[in-house]
Amino acid sequence: MTQSSTRLVLVVAAALVDPDGRVLLAQRPAGKQLAGLWEFPGGKIEPGERPEQALARELAEELGIDACVSCMQPLAFASHAYEDFHLLMPLFVCRRWDGMVVAKEGQALKWARARDLRNFPMPPADAPLIDPLVALLG
Ligand code: C5P
Repeated sequence: MTQSSTRLVLVVAAALVDPDGRVLLAQRPAGKQLAGLWEFPGGKIEPGERPEQALARELAEELGIDACVSCMQPLAFASHAYEDFHLLMPLFVCRRWDGMVVAKEGQALKWARARDLRNFPMPPADAPLIDPLVALLG
């Protein structure tokens, strides 16, 4: 029997939705894999973390906000086979946080209307998450 050696990478992402129904996208910086593409903010889940905890930590690190963990709503789940790893990534809708969104890592940020989300080039794992998000936000 052959064993698959595909590495599994667990990432969690947020659809941060502002009071006007706009969604925050972050551009992957130069030098990173998939640089230039627009993604839902988030990052890797560390061992022992619940996805929502990991997401709150990543949002604090990347955007300087204190997201309401108990308010996060799971919406969709991305599963994508990249060349060298398989990505599993739940998307949580976050409408409540404290603090102002700031690009703490120098990344470009855009608040996009749901109808405009498809105009942004996205990583292949993120793109299928647009449909359920548009369905939710109308
Ligand atoms: O952000 P980071 O580089 O730690 O993410 C790990 C990998 O997960 C990236 O190389 C990227 O391929 C993938 N990713 C993604 N969509 C996201 C976040 C990460 O496809 N929203």
